[in-house]
Amino acid sequence: MITGKTQLLGVIGHPVQHSLSPAMHNAAIANLGLDYVYLPFPIAPDNLKAALDGFAAIGVVGFSITIPHKQAILPLLSEISPIAQAVGAVNTVVRKDNHWLGTNTDIDGFISPLKNYDKDWSNKVAVVLGNGGAARAVVAGLTQLGVAQIHLLGRNMEKLQVFQQSWENSPLSAKLQVHEWEYLPQLLPKTNLLVNTTPVGMYPKVEESPVGKAEMANLQPGAITYDLIYTPNPTQFLAQAQQVGAVPIDGLEMLVQQGAIALKMWLQRDSVPVDVMRQALRDRLG
Ligand code: NAP
Repeated sequence: MITGKTQLLGVIGHPVQHSLSPAMHNAAIANLGLDYVYLPFPIAPDNLKAALDGFAAIGVVGFSITIPHKQAILPLLSEISPIAQAVGAVNTVVRKDNHWLGTNTDIDGFISPLKNYDKDWSNKVAVVLGNGGAARAVVAGLTQLGVAQIHLLGRNMEKLQVFQQSWENSPLSAKLQVHEWEYLPQLLPKTNLLVNTTPVGMYPKVEESPVGKAEMANLQPGAITYDLIYTPNPTQFLAQAQQVGAVPIDGLEMLVQQGAIALKMWLQRDSVPVDVMRQALRDRLG
């Protein structure tokens, strides 16, 4: 129930109508019995600064950020966490002492399910498919996990080189190698963790996979395959990987965990009902 004291949270994007975040966060808020509401705010790129000023005026507690504002918001914030600076994108903003503070919870959201599978990543080889925004959070997460090698594959060498150069002054640069897509068959036999950060296989093109069926057979049994896509579940990529004995992780858990970390920050709580958030997403996705 909305009251005179209801506190505001939300997500900004353009478009934002299809965001699953309101369902996930409002389910948790209801479960906790708190007087908050989480709303979708469609904000066109030209209105970003005006939206932030308006949010400050009406006392918004915090908000999530989705495409196309994740990078554009950086100059409008008073403070940006080191991890968000390293990734070059903010997905969560909190109002504190009349300032907007930005961070990126995708990194911890990404590594959260991986911690259940292995404790020591120091001799592991990770292969990341794609070089877009999500890949930046993934390589930052892999560095936090402490993997030995990160191989990033893309279809455009210029973009791959820009990606590599952007990490030049970070500890990650010693571990990161970039390759064109054709190099994948050479990497698969020694891959411990294969991550798809491309949208290939996402609904409605559910028959597609970034890795061919024959290629997938080169993956060693027990390797972990992680698809950032959460619909369909499983994707073709994960279904094929399972057929050769690989362990599948889908993108739903990353979505849940990045949201849970953000909600803890906004509500200033040590815990939030993660199971309720996961179930709300599953219900929405059918
Ligand atoms: P993005 O910035 O647009 O990057 C997409 C990347 O995929 C680019 O490197 C692009 O290559 C590559 N790509 C696109 N189509 C391809 C194809 N047909 N073959 C090979 N490579 C292709 O998008 P993003 O923000 O990183 O998101 C990527 C995916 O991750 C989306 O499916 C998104 O839903 C998912 N995601 C999930 C979560 C979660 O919480 N589970 C969070 C973030 C993102 P080029 O650079 O050559 O164009």
